[in-house]
Amino acid sequence: MSAAAKITTSSVDAAQVVSELRATFRTGRTKPIGWRKAQLRRFRDMVKENEDRMAQALKEDLGRPHYEAILAEVHYLLSEAEEAIDAVADWMEPVYTSAPLALQPGTAYIKPEPLGVVLIIAPWNYPIQLALAPLIGAISAGNCAVLKPSEVAPASSKLMAELVPKYLDTQCVRVVEGAVPETTALLEQRWDHIFFTGGERVGKIVMTAAAKHLTPVTLELGGKSPCIVHKSANLKVSARRIIWGKGLNAGQTCIAPDYILVEESIKDRFVGELKAAITDFYGTDTKASPDYSRIVSDRHFDRLVTLMQGGNVLAGGQHDKASRFLALTLIDGVSMDAPLMQEEIFGPLLPIVTVKDMNEAVDIVTSRQKPLALYAFAGDRKTQDFILSNTSSGGVCINDTVQHFLVPGLPFGGVGTSGVGAYHGKFSFDTFSHSKGVLNKPTWVDPSVRYPPYSKGQLKITRFLL
Ligand code: NAD
Repeated sequence: MSAAAKITTSSVDAAQVVSELRATFRTGRTKPIGWRKAQLRRFRDMVKENEDRMAQALKEDLGRPHYEAILAEVHYLLSEAEEAIDAVADWMEPVYTSAPLALQPGTAYIKPEPLGVVLIIAPWNYPIQLALAPLIGAISAGNCAVLKPSEVAPASSKLMAELVPKYLDTQCVRVVEGAVPETTALLEQRWDHIFFTGGERVGKIVMTAAAKHLTPVTLELGGKSPCIVHKSANLKVSARRIIWGKGLNAGQTCIAPDYILVEESIKDRFVGELKAAITDFYGTDTKASPDYSRIVSDRHFDRLVTLMQGGNVLAGGQHDKASRFLALTLIDGVSMDAPLMQEEIFGPLLPIVTVKDMNEAVDIVTSRQKPLALYAFAGDRKTQDFILSNTSSGGVCINDTVQHFLVPGLPFGGVGTSGVGAYHGKFSFDTFSHSKGVLNKPTWVDPSVRYPPYSKGQLKITRFLL
């Protein structure tokens, strides 16, 4: 039985769900700071009180090590929720701007207002965090929301369907479980915003459905995130940080290092360090390591094993279909046209491509679609700046991988085919808000200079004052 088939959902009356939430939204229930803060506190309690159940669901869905479940999902959600609880009142404040002289007296400001009823569609790879983190933004901004978790992570989906109505206001927040038919039914409705995390193919389906209603979208997609390694890099630390980022969730991370571009002169030494890091972290038998996840489904397992055949295996390569185990595998001799270098790997395979110098590395990156993340490993500042200024990507880590995700003050999102829009911290609030521009004019004075009949002198004065 496929993972997707494990979920049995009664057919969703999507139109009914939206119409109920829309009716609630119109009452203004979600707008006051009191509702938002109370919901965010309930959200925090939900995560805190169910930490172990969340880790257990992630174990069932992905064989996820406890440490990773807590760090990458539970802890992350708690810190986002805490930040929102502390800051939401400030975020809601109007932002004043000056009005030109010709419009004086007058007060101009930007008033953030909720969008209305929003849809959040989540993927399976960090199935709890990627479903619930956008919900923090939706609630902070005062929206009603429907959450559609991924059917490919059924234990996590089921847990959220149980917990969300227990802790949050069911008149305003709903979970709809399901696969393609249920999501299709949801996408037929008119939403005020759709926040989608997933692959490029489904991203296009979402954007097409949204276009019918002119609904704005945030698309958190994927892509091939490169690691560029310069000869000035600290090879040992760089190797350890790349293997750590790739090993997380067995490479099933949207910002996992996808491939390495390493300078010729240091390649052999660097491969040695990569191999050493694998053994240090997971021992000589990765399958026996409690710190290594499994591939989510047979379909993805088969896809990855086929991809692996696109080059020479330098380390790893062991796999076992029954337990969907696939070792972290270093591969070289890969043609740039091979599927391994064309499609997002989204698993523990790590191709290593040799380049002459940084110009060639940058050429390879910029000749492809813009990645979600780019990792530059270099000791010297000039090389770091060269890579940073000559490439475009959703985000960047210099001398590390993945960790930029954890900085709440940084927007997280893609560019080009890796995504549209961004979130995290205040950026989540902005994503789910409309910035309404307001000009407030008193009536105690009403200069006639703006009104007809117009004269040349009037035009001169107005041009000067505007
Ligand atoms: P996916 O696109 O297959 O599925 C995402 C969601 O879309 C699921 O909820 C699924 O039920 C729904 N869906 C699937 N097919 C659909 C269809 N035909 N019509 C309507 N809805 C449909 O993605 P996935 O396999 O769950 O996740 C992997 C992808 O997500 C990778 O490309 C990865 O890079 C990307 N990703 C991006 C981020 C990010 O933050 N940018 C995070 C995680 C994953």
